[in-house]
Amino acid sequence: MVCVMCKHTGMTAGHTLLPLERDNKILILTDIPARVCANCGKPYMTGATAREVEALADKVFSGTAPSARVPGKHHILQASFES
Ligand SMILES: [Zn+2]
Repeated sequence: MVCVMCKHTGMTAGHTLLPLERDNKILILTDIPARVCANCGKPYMTGATAREVEALADKVFSGTAPSARVPGKHHILQASFES
């Protein structure tokens, strides 16, 4: 696999986070398993993981999966993918 950012071919197993916006809410999903470029750190999710992330985001936005409210004036939620 070649990194689109730096053309490096070394990937390591790691985790990433993803901010998602829906209506007036922002969800930050953390601990998403990903392959991470060993050179520049760009994360790559598999298609299966992306679909699971989407499914979890749907549940969090509809209130059927747990999340934490991040204090502040914006409506920001935080949920962990691997919990
Ligand atoms: Zn890279």
